[in-house]
Amino acid sequence: MAKTQVAVIGAGTGGYSAAFRAADLGLQVTLIDRGPTLGGVCLNRGCIPSKALLHVAALLNEAREAEGWGVTFGEPKIDVTKLNEWKKSVVGKMTGGLAELVKRRKITYQQGSAKFVSSTALTVEKAGGGTETLEFEHAVLATGSRPTVIPSLQTKSNRVVDSTGALELTDIPKSMLVVGGGYIGLELGTVYDALSTRVSVVEMMPGLLPGVDRDLVSYLARRLQGRFEKIMLETTVVSLEETKAGVRAKFKGKDGDSEAEYEKVLIAVGRRPNTQNLGLETTKVQVNERGFVVVDEQRRTAEGTIFAVGDIAGEPMLAHKAVHEGIVAAEVISGQKVAFEPHAIPAVVFTDPEIAWCGLTQTQAEKERRTVKVAKFPWGASGRATTLGRNDGMTKLLVDPETERVLGVGIVGAGAGELIAEGALAVEMAALASDLRLTIHPHPTLSETIMEAAETFFGQSLHVYAAKRS
Ligand code: NAD
Repeated sequence: MAKTQVAVIGAGTGGYSAAFRAADLGLQVTLIDRGPTLGGVCLNRGCIPSKALLHVAALLNEAREAEGWGVTFGEPKIDVTKLNEWKKSVVGKMTGGLAELVKRRKITYQQGSAKFVSSTALTVEKAGGGTETLEFEHAVLATGSRPTVIPSLQTKSNRVVDSTGALELTDIPKSMLVVGGGYIGLELGTVYDALSTRVSVVEMMPGLLPGVDRDLVSYLARRLQGRFEKIMLETTVVSLEETKAGVRAKFKGKDGDSEAEYEKVLIAVGRRPNTQNLGLETTKVQVNERGFVVVDEQRRTAEGTIFAVGDIAGEPMLAHKAVHEGIVAAEVISGQKVAFEPHAIPAVVFTDPEIAWCGLTQTQAEKERRTVKVAKFPWGASGRATTLGRNDGMTKLLVDPETERVLGVGIVGAGAGELIAEGALAVEMAALASDLRLTIHPHPTLSETIMEAAETFFGQSLHVYAAKRS
C-alpha cells in the first residue's frame, strides 16, 4: 500500500496552496485531482479565463468611448478562434507554471478520483485506469464547488450553458439571457455585451448583486441599464424551451408573465460545494445542512486527521480565501500554532465599473445594528478618475465613531479591485481613519480617494466642500 504524509484532494487554489506549503515545510505530499491540469475551476474555467476576456471587454469599451475624446477607431473585427487561443494560452501558461512548481517541490501528482475508505486511507481511481489505496497521516480536502442546477430549467440544449460553457466562447450570439444577477452573471454578461451580444439579465431578488451595499451597486446598475438590453428584477424563469433559432424563456415576475427568445442562455445562480462521492461516511467528517464541510478555525474537520479548505469549507467561495485556508491547514499539520481568523476577506466583482469591499459592510452593520460612521468620497472630485473619463465611482470607509478604527472599506469604480488591497491592510492592521488620512498617497491616482474618504470622516476633504451647518 502506498503511503504519504499529506494527501491533498483537489488541485485548485486551496488544494495546491496547501500542498505547496506542506512540501515547503518538509512534508511528503501527494496531490490528487481528476483534471489533467492543476489550478482547478479558478484557473481552468473561472477567474483566469474570465479575467482574460474581461480585459478584452475593457479594451473594446474604452476604444468605443475614445470617440468622445477625439479618437475614433473603426468597428472592431473579432476573430473568435484567435481570441479563444489567446485565452487558452493565458491558462496554459499558468497551469504549466504550476506543474513545474509541483515537480520542483517533489510533490507526487496523481490524476484520478479520490475516495476515503477510513480516517487514514483513501482509494484513487486513476485516470489512466486501475485503483490504488493510499495511506495518509493527514488529508486536506479541497474539492471546490460546482454550479447550482435548477431542475426545472434543465435541458439538453447546447444553447443553455453554465459559466464553463459561456467561457468556451464558441461563438458570439446575437442575444443572451443571463439567469442570475450575481458575480458570474454580471461579469460574463459584461464580456458578451462588449462583444456586441444583446444581453438581458433576470434576477429573482429586488436588486443586482444581492447582499452587496446598495450604494456601491447603484453605480454599476446605472451603467448596465445603459448597456444591457433588459434587466428584469424580482423575476424568475419558469421554463426554457429550445426553438429553431434559439431558446424561448418564460418569465414570472413583479411585472407579470412574459416570454422572449434568445440565441443563448447562461445560468449562473450560485455554486454548491462538492461533498458527494468522497466516502465521507467512512470518516467522522461532518457536512452541514448547506453541504459545507464543518471545520474549526484551524480548518480541521470533526475527523482529527482530515482538514478542509476552500469552497467546500464555507463561504465566501473565493479563491484568495482558499489560498489562505490551504496555507493554514498545511502549517497546522506541520505542528505550527496558527489559525484562519481574518478580519477582512476582500471581495471583487470584476464588472465595469468594478465593485470591491472588505471587512464590515454597511448592509451587515445595519443588520447587526452597529453604529458606524460612513465616510464617502465621490470620484467626481478625483483628478485621476476625471483623466480616465471615469467619474462613475465612489470610495467609502466604515469607521467606528468612538475608536476611529477603520472597520470596512467599499469601493466602486474602474480598477476598484486593485484598490481594495489597501483597505484590507487597513482593516487587518486595525488602522485608524487618521492613519489613512495622514499617509501621503501619490497624486494623481485613484488611491487618493481612500485618503480623501478618511479626510471626510474628520469633516472636510480637500476636494469636496460640505457647507458647515450653522
Ligand atoms: P451568486 O450567488 O453571486 O449570484 C447568483 C444570483 O442568482 C443571485 O443574485 C441570486 O439571487 C440569483 N438567483 C438564484 N436563483 C435564481 C433564479 N431561479 N432566477 C433568477 N435569479 C436567481 O452566484 P454566481 O454568480 O453563480 O457565482 C457563484 C460564486 O462564485 C459566487 O458566490 C462567488 O463566490 C464565486 N465567484 C466569484 C467571482 C469573483 O470573485 N469575482 C466571480 C465569479 C464567481
